Amino acid sequence: MDLHQKQTWYDYDRGDFLSLKLSAARELIPKDVKTILDAGCGNGVITNALQNDYDIVGLDISEAALEHVTAPKIRGSITQLPFADGQFQLCMCHEVLEHLSPSDSKRAIKELKRCSSKYIMISVPYKENLRQHYAKCASCGCESHVYGHLQSYGQNTLNAMLEPDYFPLKTRIMGPKQKTNPHWISTFKQRRLGQWFYPDFCLTCPRCGADNFVYKSSILTKLTNALGNLISSRQPYWLLKLYQKK
Ligand SMILES: [Zn+2]
Repeated sequence: MDLHQKQTWYDYDRGDFLSLKLSAARELIPKDVKTILDAGCGNGVITNALQNDYDIVGLDISEAALEHVTAPKIRGSITQLPFADGQFQLCMCHEVLEHLSPSDSKRAIKELKRCSSKYIMISVPYKENLRQHYAKCASCGCESHVYGHLQSYGQNTLNAMLEPDYFPLKTRIMGPKQKTNPHWISTFKQRRLGQWFYPDFCLTCPRCGADNFVYKSSILTKLTNALGNLISSRQPYWLLKLYQKK
């Protein structure tokens, strides 16, 4: 996923699940909130929907993404927010942290805390098995997550990043239930059988730019996939949490 490509953002996150996300985010916004920062707003699917009801600003690093944002917007990095301390009553950040390295996500949280006067809202994919979405470039052998996710979060990992100065106020775990393989199945498929996630959408290798990926299908991969389906857990896709300053 190339954040700076125009085609990434045209229909990004505009699927059926968006209305569910939006209503959950709206429901969690406390009554006393008037000013909001949507950090890492992407193409503004949430920022744009909230602009009539709140004094909201969208921030993103991608110029191509910001072209779709109709609310007040600014180009910048979530790890270095161009705002004053406590400038917004609520700083929100939807599906951004999973794309950042551990050190960048720590910097991002520190910045959200600095710019918020009272609340922080965060959403991430819930307990994702990152390996399950790893593709392998057929040209250079680079192994990478097809949606560019670098980290997986559960409630405890997220809470630990916000504590001790913020405490969890409300939580929603929701969305379509996804089949999640145990990690050992993903590792076995990739390391022993050479079977990787094969993207059925336009994707280029983050290292060499090639667009061909390793594909393998045999009796053994089919049997392992069937076993994986049988023992995989079905869990909701999305974790949304609201935090309040202590
Ligand atoms: Zn490559």
